[in-house]
Amino acid sequence: VMRILSTDNKNIEILENGKSISDVIDRKIKELSTVDNEEPFYVLNLDSLLKRHLRWITNLPRVKPFYAMKCNNTPAVVRMLMALGIGFDCASKIQHALSLGATPDKMVYAHTTKPLSHIRYACTHGVDVMTFDSEDELLKISLCHSQAKLILRIATDDSKSLVRLSTKFGARMASVGKLLEQAGELGLEVIGVSFHVGSGCTSSLAYKKAIADARLVFDMASLLGFQMKLLDIGGGFSAIGDFQDKFEEFSGVINEALDKFFPPDSGVEIIAEPGRYYVESAFTLAVNVMAKRVVANEVDEQNSTCTHQSSEAIPDKMIMYYITDGVYGSMSCITADPVHSKYPSVIWGPTCDSIDKITENYWLPELHVGEWLLIDNMGAYSVSQVSDFNSFERARIYPVVSAKTWDTLNLSHTYRDYLCTNLYLYCISLWCKISLSKIKHKGQFTA
Ligand code: PLP
Repeated sequence: VMRILSTDNKNIEILENGKSISDVIDRKIKELSTVDNEEPFYVLNLDSLLKRHLRWITNLPRVKPFYAMKCNNTPAVVRMLMALGIGFDCASKIQHALSLGATPDKMVYAHTTKPLSHIRYACTHGVDVMTFDSEDELLKISLCHSQAKLILRIATDDSKSLVRLSTKFGARMASVGKLLEQAGELGLEVIGVSFHVGSGCTSSLAYKKAIADARLVFDMASLLGFQMKLLDIGGGFSAIGDFQDKFEEFSGVINEALDKFFPPDSGVEIIAEPGRYYVESAFTLAVNVMAKRVVANEVDEQNSTCTHQSSEAIPDKMIMYYITDGVYGSMSCITADPVHSKYPSVIWGPTCDSIDKITENYWLPELHVGEWLLIDNMGAYSVSQVSDFNSFERARIYPVVSAKTWDTLNLSHTYRDYLCTNLYLYCISLWCKISLSKIKHKGQFTA
């Protein structure tokens, strides 16, 4: 395990006992100010990944996670998850995961519309498990990777999810029979079913319905002679903000549906493709207030969309801040929750474009140029969506792990297999020792 984490990861900082992530952030800010540098940076808390993993195996013991690399493919994240024995869901050429040491047997190529060259790449590198949802994809796979082990992705009711995916991906139940028949005619092997209920799913019923639908597809496929053995329940999980307690609630519903439709004695292996669940709270972004502008308040009280206690006087000014990261950088997908604070504030990213607005009508105490803002829960779909527009430097990532976690995972190669087999018991004992820190809302700014 140590070998995996330490390979070319000399930049991982091991936190001294008694020191916290805030201490690291403070120190980095001081270091930057001594070299006259205001560039944004992240601190990546690797312990947070371990905590999320413990929470996962406690709540969904039958479901093996295959982390969705698209969400955040920072090498230290991938290596930590690899050290915890997690598999990977890759949506493109899979070189990145392979180059970091992921093994083909622990990978799902979970994109239903793949370029031919990527299918060939998967074939030559031994990545066999891949998804499909159309006849054309079946034809491509039969040409480039006829030995592939196929998972049929079905569409879901994703109407209760923040990011809907089933308008773009997933076969409708009405077309499943035809697809399976075609796979059979092409001599392809279908081994399972997958779905994705949409990212940021707010309704556990979506999983319940999709698991029931998957059972129907298993039965249809079995009748056609396929040996069905894999169910992939996709992603959509979160545990921050309004979702804080949903993970436990969803797990209960999922476990019940799995026990009903895919009981343990069915022999079906169950996997998932969580993305944001694993990384969302592991990253804190530090940005510098590089400029500000005070605007005399012309807010129309009646039409104001600000969340502010009506009994309080409306302040006489609104403040706009210009910070060193923005929607062309780490915050292309930020959703900010209004908080009660002192001045209605607009926060702009550093580029010259006016759509680079991170938030408006956000109540903040007055900030000053040169101060830093810390933004929690920036792990999901942030570093993976950065653009080079205006040539601003992308935020550097400083991974940190506590001495306790490092020491606990720091086992010699000889004990690696032992660790894997005993990971569950081992994690439960750790769980008792680690107190879950309060998870803050995504996009909540801390000045
Ligand atoms: N699997 C697939 C096929 C996806 O498209 C996505 C996200 O778009 C994920 C997994 C990860 O989803 P989430 O971050 O909601 O867990």
